Amino acid sequence: SGEPAAVEARDLSRRYGAVWALRECSFALPANRVVALVGANGAGKSTLLSIIAGTLAATSGTVLVHGRPMVRGGSVDGGSRVAILAQDKPLYRDFTVSDMLRFGRSTNRVWDQRRALSWLDRFAVPLDRRCGKLSGGQRAQVALAVALGSRPAVLLLDEPLANLDPLARVEVTGELLAEVADDDMTVVLSTHIVAELSGVGDHLLLLDAGRPVLTGDVEELLDSHVRLTGPRADQ
Ligand code: ATP
Repeated sequence: SGEPAAVEARDLSRRYGAVWALRECSFALPANRVVALVGANGAGKSTLLSIIAGTLAATSGTVLVHGRPMVRGGSVDGGSRVAILAQDKPLYRDFTVSDMLRFGRSTNRVWDQRRALSWLDRFAVPLDRRCGKLSGGQRAQVALAVALGSRPAVLLLDEPLANLDPLARVEVTGELLAEVADDDMTVVLSTHIVAELSGVGDHLLLLDAGRPVLTGDVEELLDSHVRLTGPRADQ
């Protein structure tokens, strides 16, 4: 189709001293999907997400977000709304959950209070509780709610599920799939837990030692006998 990809990488490389964290990555991620970015520790997932977000410069290569070049610090023309939730993003411990929403409203150009509130409501996070008194899983939900409230076109989540129990993981990925179905948003979610894939569902980008080795629809990949989650019942 003529629609630009939500995220396109062209020959993207990133070097840290002698270590190549990404090597000539080229791929296109479709819009309005939940994309699972999968790879072992050190595969380059965090590096890739930071470059897409514009918080880290590439050594060479280009990232396009909905067709617009992303450079360090944000897109060239400021038009692509990309939000990143970094690993273990700290919340202000003395802020209540409501305070965090106020903070989100005051620091984002676009703010959707209803969307943020409904996310917290779905996971029964108490609004009057101080963030320092929340569980790790609840803190992850608050950070997600604030990110969703900023209405990004592309939401990058760096291992958001690490602190969640297995049931909550399935719930969160299910709710994210519902969000992208309802709204113009693409979610890229990094994980090294391949078992999460069956729940994440939509689209896959598999990184191995800084290279994309597999990309495509999870269903299609499963149908073409790529055994990511083990043999299927009908095989
Ligand atoms: P994890 O699953 O452990 O979070 P990852 O897939 O996110 O790993 P990255 O954190 O992107 O991988 O790291 C990719 C490679 O780059 C690794 O070899 C790592 O050691 C290296 N690296 C990452 N950040 C730096 C840095 N600031 N300085 C030097 N090397 C780095």
